[in-house]
Amino acid sequence: MRHVHIHVTGIVQGVGMRPFVYREAMAHGICGWVLNAGDGVHIEAHASVEALDDFVAALSKHAPAAARVEHVAVADLEPDAWDADDEQVFRIVASQDQTVHTTLISPDIATCDDCLRELFDPADRRYHYPFINCTNCGPRFTIIRSLPYDRAATSMDCFPMCPECAAEYGDPLDRRFHAQPDACFDCGPHITWREAAGDMELGGSGATPAVGSTRETSDAIIDRCVELLASGGIVAIKGLGGFHLACNAANEQAVVELRRRKRRSNKPLAVMVRSLADTERLCHVDDAERGVLAGSIRPIVLLRRCAVGEGDSPDALTLAPSVAHDLPELGVMLPYTPLQHLLLAAAEVRGLHALVMTSGNLSEEPIETDDGLAWEHLVAVGIADALLGNDRAILSRYDDSVVRVVGGVVMPVRRARGYAPQPLTLPTLDAVAPCVLACGPQQKATIALTREGTNGEATCFVSQHIGDVENGETFDAWNAARTRLEALFDLTPAALACDLHPSYLSSQWAREQARKCNLPLIEIQHHHAHIASVMAEAIAAGQLTTDARVLGIAFDGTGAGTDGTIWGGEFLVAGLADFERAAHLRTWALPGGAASVRDARRNAFALLSELGLLEHPGAAGLLGTLDEQTRSITTTMIERNINSPRTSSMGRLFDAAAAVLGICGQATYEGEPAIELEAAAWRALGGKPVRLDGNHTGVFMPADNSPILDPQPIIEALLNGIEAGAPADRLALDFHIAIACASARIACEICDREGLDTVALSGGVFMNRLLLQLLTHELKDAGLAVLVPHAVPVNDGCIAYGQAAIARARLAQTARVGCFASLRAAVSQV
Ligand SMILES: [Zn+2]
Ligand SMILES: [Zn+2]
Repeated sequence: MRHVHIHVTGIVQGVGMRPFVYREAMAHGICGWVLNAGDGVHIEAHASVEALDDFVAALSKHAPAAARVEHVAVADLEPDAWDADDEQVFRIVASQDQTVHTTLISPDIATCDDCLRELFDPADRRYHYPFINCTNCGPRFTIIRSLPYDRAATSMDCFPMCPECAAEYGDPLDRRFHAQPDACFDCGPHITWREAAGDMELGGSGATPAVGSTRETSDAIIDRCVELLASGGIVAIKGLGGFHLACNAANEQAVVELRRRKRRSNKPLAVMVRSLADTERLCHVDDAERGVLAGSIRPIVLLRRCAVGEGDSPDALTLAPSVAHDLPELGVMLPYTPLQHLLLAAAEVRGLHALVMTSGNLSEEPIETDDGLAWEHLVAVGIADALLGNDRAILSRYDDSVVRVVGGVVMPVRRARGYAPQPLTLPTLDAVAPCVLACGPQQKATIALTREGTNGEATCFVSQHIGDVENGETFDAWNAARTRLEALFDLTPAALACDLHPSYLSSQWAREQARKCNLPLIEIQHHHAHIASVMAEAIAAGQLTTDARVLGIAFDGTGAGTDGTIWGGEFLVAGLADFERAAHLRTWALPGGAASVRDARRNAFALLSELGLLEHPGAAGLLGTLDEQTRSITTTMIERNINSPRTSSMGRLFDAAAAVLGICGQATYEGEPAIELEAAAWRALGGKPVRLDGNHTGVFMPADNSPILDPQPIIEALLNGIEAGAPADRLALDFHIAIACASARIACEICDREGLDTVALSGGVFMNRLLLQLLTHELKDAGLAVLVPHAVPVNDGCIAYGQAAIARARLAQTARVGCFASLRAAVSQV
């Protein structure tokens, strides 16, 4: 006989770990117990040596699908350190609340196949129950109040289980054994329905919502909801991490109305369809895309749309033009909650095959999570016609994640539901750094917290996508995400990292907090954080050494530079701790700053003025769209340097090119001109592969070997093309090729000079699939290794992770040179 204590860590809570341990214990004849604690799953086991060995091996080998067992530590028990009773049976003991919260929480999991079968089985007691779940699926992070993960610590605590549910919950051999959100019509949450006007039958008007407390009333609500959607209505629907606004994606009038009410201009909308088959009626889907669409996370997947009339499929689904206009990509997701499955099934009966499912908020504000506030902010003000809510509280706000598959690999675009805050690995350092809170950027904000190991290794918890932290409400959401992350992982920051931008709200908070609490503060240049995020991931994956230097190409919209200009077209020779700006896009003045971001024509006007190209005949079209007054004001602003920051932003160069070509002059959402420019270039390609040899290379090149990427010859060639009557789409393609070739040439020169062999790409401009593809091709052709991020987005969603990596590297440096004692002293004064 051997007597051991086993400690299992990793993602082991909310994934059916204890019933699994119980079943394995039964199978191997193990006695003892299992319990859930804040720092993982603890097991006491008594059995023969062989049985124990097999049992321990099974713990990692056969763990439930949603679990991620990271470590199984086995220690012999001291003699007589156990109860004799524990040698007779195996049991599951109640959870212990512990202060050490080092275990990992499972993310929310899409409804599993078993639950789905029951949901549509008329003989099942949960037939059509909108909250069906089991240990293999259902809500997790969105309903957890604190760890350990137990019903009492979730928003399910106000639903006492009925005898039948309680029996399942208590039966170690049941699929719902200790499924914390386990519930049914009799004891669990119910959907609710309230309309702005109308249908008294359901009790859906006035102050009291109709409640779907029985199958009949619940079905009636779903039916009424679909009826309203079918007639062109807009409904606010409560999901896992927040509200969606839904409408019929085939109804142009409804989509236009949704955009108008939500003030969402032209930004493409995501749709939800019922099945992979329906997805293929809209888009091209490869195996990797199929896998992520129908997997357990179910993010929005950006797919290449089938061209209208393509593949002469009589089966193609038609979407309203306003869903995504003529952009080549469409965001599609499959249902991931039982309610969504029920809605899509009911919709299909009425001939609705695709629903717009966009986040339930006014543009730029956090998504609504509370039924009362959603009514106030979405229905009472006339954005939605009705509210499909429920009485299960959302404790953590989560947007849908957005991903794209590039070369068979999933690349996150927005990391939220299902992904965050799954831990990311940070490079192992040769000194221990303190816990770092990285405050992130302003747009597409996330927050990161580090947890140090004992040997210089560390993990990083990156929060879900928070949005643009530009006003009080989004800052509140930022703060809520921060305190929640600290509390859940029981981490107290001992150092702070922020963007060096003078006025980002999160940077201001960090400076104030560092001063108040006497914490070390590391201010980080935006584009260095971009490149460091790619490096950190590559180092953790063993593709780079910790002390590696790479050439980072950071192309994005806006980031504060170290020289007072706005950067965004940067070539950085970067290590994890520091960087040098090796080259950049030539700067020009951006009259009115943000005003020129919205109005790309003014940006283009300023660029042409800088490049001495205003008199070019090819510029006549652009000038014709600007009235005399705007032109003279803009000229004056540039000449007298009034509110006209200089920028080297690649994002702005793409905007300007779109305006010069007449493709898109004004942005109704961030990056619209650049996105339209890319769409035009794809149209010019018409599905053919890009040829970089022959005509294109050598057409546009930087003027000399200066460390400046000069767009002058590129823009002049565009104007020549316009003058010669070349199609705008063709010129858009030429522009992409020129930028890729010029950038690659500069990169090669720097790498040659500096003895570098690896290029890291990051920045929102690389959301441009064509540019990414072209530049990667050119760099690889030149024999350089190319790194792109896979764990975090290429856009500003990566910044917090990059900041954390840089801050740790700098703190460890400080520790190495012996200053860590003073740092410790500073930290301990808190
Ligand atoms: Zn299930
Ligand atoms: Zn029940």
